[in-house]
Amino acid sequence: MTSTEIYTTCAVDSDPPPGTRSKTSLFCPDCGHESAVTGDWSVEGTEHSWRLRCPDCDTVVQQR
Ligand SMILES: [Zn+2]
Repeated sequence: MTSTEIYTTCAVDSDPPPGTRSKTSLFCPDCGHESAVTGDWSVEGTEHSWRLRCPDCDTVVQQR
């Protein structure tokens, strides 16, 4: 049954099932808050950049 195990691990690793976790989801590294990019993050934008701030702990999660 070892071959079945390997096959399952490979499939999950290389091709995660759609809907389980959106590829646009972000995690707060500080408190673990999870939401989509278009979710409940506080957005701060300037002319050429923007950043997403965690609504729970105010940590900057992503900036561009
Ligand atoms: Zn947070």
